[in-house]
Amino acid sequence: MRELVVLGTASQVPTRTRNHNGYLLLWDGEGLLFDPGEGTQRQMILAGVSASQVTRICLTHVHGDHCYGLPGVLSRMALDGAEHRVELHYPASGDGVVRALVSLATGVLDLHLRPHGSAGEVAPGLSVQPLRHRVECYGYRLVEPDGRTMLPERLAAAGVFGPEVGRLQREGRLGQVRVEEVSVVRPGQKFAFVMDTAPCAGAEELADGADLLVAECTFADEESELAAAYLHLTAGQAGQLAARAGARRLLLTHFSSRYPDLDPLRRQALERAGGAEVLAAVDLERIPLRRRRRTAQGRPAR
Ligand SMILES: [Zn+2]
Repeated sequence: MRELVVLGTASQVPTRTRNHNGYLLLWDGEGLLFDPGEGTQRQMILAGVSASQVTRICLTHVHGDHCYGLPGVLSRMALDGAEHRVELHYPASGDGVVRALVSLATGVLDLHLRPHGSAGEVAPGLSVQPLRHRVECYGYRLVEPDGRTMLPERLAAAGVFGPEVGRLQREGRLGQVRVEEVSVVRPGQKFAFVMDTAPCAGAEELADGADLLVAECTFADEESELAAAYLHLTAGQAGQLAARAGARRLLLTHFSSRYPDLDPLRRQALERAGGAEVLAAVDLERIPLRRRRRTAQGRPAR
């Protein structure tokens, strides 16, 4: 199962309906918790997920709305008796803040600190790229390797049946039959997480071809000067990011408390999103990651 559980969608200041940031990505057996702001532990209860599901925590940067929930979540995991290994990724320059937050947590946890200081892979399939914010900030990208979908009619025509299908998939060849002749490429899913940033190349690399792009959208287009001053995205810039990257779905989040109604922001993003589906995130909602369909030519359908 793959889905994103939205735990909070507020930037700097929470509101009556929006908690500080927090996103749990359930990805097969893993639970990746992104940017747990204040109150994340309680939001997890309201969303119906448990702290023990977290296997990896990914911080984009150490501004409070992205990490003050850490001690609570870690303490809760220890209280619940989580015995599995937990990795904590964060920008290396935030080491002092992260260690301070971790030191506040009570109980024993198999926690491993994984600071990063440059672009690249930080775990299998998980990579980071630098963003442009007021402190060192990295976005994340999770990519599933491409797979193959076997075509029953071609298998039958080639005379490959039963357990031989598995053997062909594993070995790539069975007698004269090559796996490429009886299957098509199934593109792996791509998830991108772009938080506090001005438009930049790193954001575009993260978002490239993403099935689901989660992007900050602190301001409406009318506040573009504020966005530029504080190094944040406007709604239109988030839409443009999705368009340039060819993302399929854009999930806007990290909203300023000045916007009780998010529909104008969603529409501003949609106008420039180049055909991507655009959603404004709502606290506690679950967003399933849809598998890509394939066409007869094996090309992914949007
Ligand atoms: Zn923020």
